[in-house]
Amino acid sequence: MYGVHPPKKSDEVVAGGKTEVIRTYQTWKGSNIFFLGGRFIFGPDFKSVFLSMFLIIAPVAVFCAFVGRKLLDHFPHHLGILIMAILIAFTIYSVSLLVITSGRDPGIIPRNTHPPEPETMDQSLEIGSSQTPQLRLPRFKEVIVNGMTVKVKYCDTCMLYRPPRCSHCSICDNCVQRFDHHCPWVGQCIGLRNYRFFFMFVSSATLLCVYVFSFCWVYAIKIMKSEDVSIWKALIKTPASIVLIIYTFICVWFVGGLTVFHLYLISTNQSTYENFRYRYDRTENPYNRGVFENFKEVFWTSIPPSKNDFRAVVEREAEMLGRTPRGSFVNSNVEKTPSDVEMGNNRKPMERFDRRRSGSWDLASDIGSFGSGYGESNRIMGGSSGSLGGGALTSQNRQ
Ligand SMILES: [Zn+2]
Ligand SMILES: [Zn+2]
Repeated sequence: MYGVHPPKKSDEVVAGGKTEVIRTYQTWKGSNIFFLGGRFIFGPDFKSVFLSMFLIIAPVAVFCAFVGRKLLDHFPHHLGILIMAILIAFTIYSVSLLVITSGRDPGIIPRNTHPPEPETMDQSLEIGSSQTPQLRLPRFKEVIVNGMTVKVKYCDTCMLYRPPRCSHCSICDNCVQRFDHHCPWVGQCIGLRNYRFFFMFVSSATLLCVYVFSFCWVYAIKIMKSEDVSIWKALIKTPASIVLIIYTFICVWFVGGLTVFHLYLISTNQSTYENFRYRYDRTENPYNRGVFENFKEVFWTSIPPSKNDFRAVVEREAEMLGRTPRGSFVNSNVEKTPSDVEMGNNRKPMERFDRRRSGSWDLASDIGSFGSGYGESNRIMGGSSGSLGGGALTSQNRQ
């Protein structure tokens, strides 16, 4: 399901009783920028993509103009062309990966329009009040992943319990599944749905650096041999090569370092976010399934479909519903009468589950899809509470 949000131009919609087609992306509450009618979603800092593109294309253009062209003379005809063709193809490949990483949904979890309903009454808040008992949502819940307890936090902005490994990006203002980090060079969150492309982009940029670096030296050596001079004198004869050698040498530390770091993260099944917070220093990582399985998870599993349909037409009725004023989750919950809650608690588990789904509490489905996305649905263990109705997953309130 996707969230339906109050439109920014609500006055225009209602004015004169005229209905205007409004799509989800136009009512989006995150800080994202959309292109082509919601077909592409970027982060708010998407302009940095152009800088990143420039940093890739400019040195390649310099190489083609000043080094590659000369290599055509030094190498037998076809080999010289092959060197250039591989470089250009590889550049297109790298830039395409950059655009794919930047322009697709990284795994945003749609915001809820209402906070979830609390499961328990907090009697402590009743003290001093003889009126209705007060309810509150616990800040954390505990779920079992692969037999280990994982704490999931409630997100006030998105009004949901974040599935495991999900985090709220402060720049994009969205909860993102398997949040890795917000990449300022890509101008997008790196998460469940674009991590693979991000890694491929970074590693291809590394190879591009190595390629340009190597052929600059090859060209210098060719000059050295043909003119019978030292390598340094040969380099002076090709200042473009000097610039490119220095440039790619600096860049390779950055992108190469990042590639190696992510190879380590993938092999141990950690996200950058988890690694920076030293999550698994003292505790065992519940997601680590061995190097081979971890790599398979990133590169050879199907990427789950987006939870958002940015181009979906927002129903006017739903849109009006979304316009109901949002209080803080505590306030909206304390407004409920005990009888409402009792009714909820007396329902059969499946009824309650359905009711919560319709009320946009999607923890179960989020975690379920998280699991299936990583082939772990059978690994999220069942427990005792059954409060989510599915029976396949345990959610325990932690007061
Ligand atoms: Zn959030
Ligand atoms: Zn972000």
